[in-house]
Amino acid sequence: MGYRRGLFLLQGYAVFSIDAVPAFNDNYIWVIHEDGHALAVDPGEAAPLEAFLQRNGLTLGGVLVTHHHGDHTGGIAQLAKRFPGLVVHGPATLAGVTAPTGDGRMVHWRSHAFRVLSVPGHTLDHLAYYGEGRLFCGDTLFGAGCGRVFEGTAEMMFRSLQALAALPADTLFYPAHEYTLSNLAFAVMVEPANTALRQRLAADSLKRERGEPTLPATLAGELATNPFLRTQVPEVIAAANTEAGFTLPDACAVFATLRSWKNRS
Ligand SMILES: [Zn+2]
Repeated sequence: MGYRRGLFLLQGYAVFSIDAVPAFNDNYIWVIHEDGHALAVDPGEAAPLEAFLQRNGLTLGGVLVTHHHGDHTGGIAQLAKRFPGLVVHGPATLAGVTAPTGDGRMVHWRSHAFRVLSVPGHTLDHLAYYGEGRLFCGDTLFGAGCGRVFEGTAEMMFRSLQALAALPADTLFYPAHEYTLSNLAFAVMVEPANTALRQRLAADSLKRERGEPTLPATLAGELATNPFLRTQVPEVIAAANTEAGFTLPDACAVFATLRSWKNRS
């Protein structure tokens, strides 16, 4: 798989690039870098990240961790040995975190700043990092889907997703997994008549055939195609009611029904 390269202009200056370093079967380690310095998100394994850093002449100075699962944290110990002084931002309860952070706090890296959002549901410790129009959201929001609810409640996950959905529509999302095509297959089952969804499925299928990531994705695109962010849409409610076998009382119940339906599909 190739790397997704993006060079971004901020305040008139070309400042940083973001690349997707593939890990395991379907993880992405997002690497933000500029002037030879790098910040990595959720390094579940060290080797592919170290190879990327070496190939691009980058020194790793910081890590953002979204949650405690091993496929997001497994590389931290080795990276900390390789890069002395590595600053690891993440949940306070997590081994290897040197700069504990939490909801509403800021993480600074070089001239950049990210606001920390607590988004429990997939896990109780799950954090997202939002800055400069970008959101690193781990296993909370995926392309056309969302993470499984392992530790929290469906209501927690619903509230977390609603908070992300309230960010500006042009926000770019950087999830930690390439699950978009399988999520889109489920989304089409929920909303077979959604034209934007069909168009996204065609476009993202082409990207995967070319070996390219489908990510990052825009919030606007998610709002148009992601059933887990569309629990107020009549067609989505009707599909969830049919799946449940009764009229669901509210959007959170629609979300919970979609989530358990997806788990079985
Ligand atoms: Zn996870």
